Amino acid sequence: MRVDGGCLCGYIRYEAEIDADRVAICHCQDCQVNSGAAFGLVAGVVGGAFTLLCGELASYNKIAESGRIRKLSFCPTCGTRIHACTEDDPTAFFGLRVGTIRQRAVLTPKVQVWCKSALPWVPDMASIPIREAQ
Ligand SMILES: [Zn+2]
Ligand SMILES: [Zn+2]
Repeated sequence: MRVDGGCLCGYIRYEAEIDADRVAICHCQDCQVNSGAAFGLVAGVVGGAFTLLCGELASYNKIAESGRIRKLSFCPTCGTRIHACTEDDPTAFFGLRVGTIRQRAVLTPKVQVWCKSALPWVPDMASIPIREAQ
């Protein structure tokens, strides 16, 4: 599926080809801290098909539990996380942050991974009181 998106401030714009069947919720602790939220939400980019249309990404190299270096890319101006990849291994999972994808409303997660570190209230999220706006 062809998608496009960008960061909060508009400096970064991109196009990508993603596999809509590889949209995942990641409960790993790196995703929790890096997102500042309960979990990460990523879509698998097909064959590294990611093109920057404008801006230049900043990045941080994180040593994953596997020992591999994951390159975490983000907007240098507003800090929005854009993608994560393993630079020296193009076959490794290339995860695009779903929240930055314009078509995100139609991308339903297909799996949850690293559930052993999921925050304890996550499975019961539907029971938390709901308001339409703030
Ligand atoms: Zn930005
Ligand atoms: Zn993760």
